[in-house]
Amino acid sequence: MTQHRDDDTRATDQDPARYQQRMATKKRIVDERIANADQERGVVIVLKGNGKGKSSSAFGTMARALGHGQRCAVIQFIKGRRATGEYLFFNEHPRVDFHVMGHGFSWEVRDPERERQAAQEAWALAERLLRDPQYHFLLFDELSYMIKYGYLDAERIARALSERPAHQNVMMTGRTMAREIQDIADTISIIQDERHAFRLGVKAQAGIEY
Ligand code: ATP
Ligand code: MG
Repeated sequence: MTQHRDDDTRATDQDPARYQQRMATKKRIVDERIANADQERGVVIVLKGNGKGKSSSAFGTMARALGHGQRCAVIQFIKGRRATGEYLFFNEHPRVDFHVMGHGFSWEVRDPERERQAAQEAWALAERLLRDPQYHFLLFDELSYMIKYGYLDAERIARALSERPAHQNVMMTGRTMAREIQDIADTISIIQDERHAFRLGVKAQAGIEY
């Protein structure tokens, strides 16, 4: 019935009647949930945690939106470099506006005043996007660091998110996300770090890390 193998699949061999009954109950519950989910509106999605996969998942979702002809915009709040695979690929797309934060926050050279100014300029742009109904999907990649360092105010961000056009979907990534933003998020996923090739001594590589 589905591609998932779970306990119910294994139960088939042992007791088909009970299995059928369990599946019928399960289907009823799922159908009820589907019937209850009758709102049509955009959502705020937060991807957080220490594992690898936050930004790549968000860009994957943007590819989905583009597949449906939706207009998208990205602001990358941390990567100063423009040579990332996501930039090189999506910036070419006619329905994507791709912005990389000004001065380019970097881990190597820290200049708090310039970073603050760059973060605030980038957020001013984000607020314009959040008022513009032509955008169906917005991605604020690595936004959380700007709040963590005190460059941006989480309450102001939460307010702009709440006042956005009703159909607009917004995804935000970052290892930790401010409480104020999580409070208004519709979906929050934690990407957990279990193992990473870097710790096995594998160098960061094009197409996987950037
Ligand atoms: P990705 O962009 O690959 O989806 P991410 O957005 O989940 O990763 P970030 O916290 O933004 O992760 O880190 C960005 C970079 O650090 C990426 O190159 C990623 O591969 C790498 N990275 C992510 N998690 C880990 C980890 N647990 N250990 C080492 N490197 C990591
Ligand atoms: Mg990331």
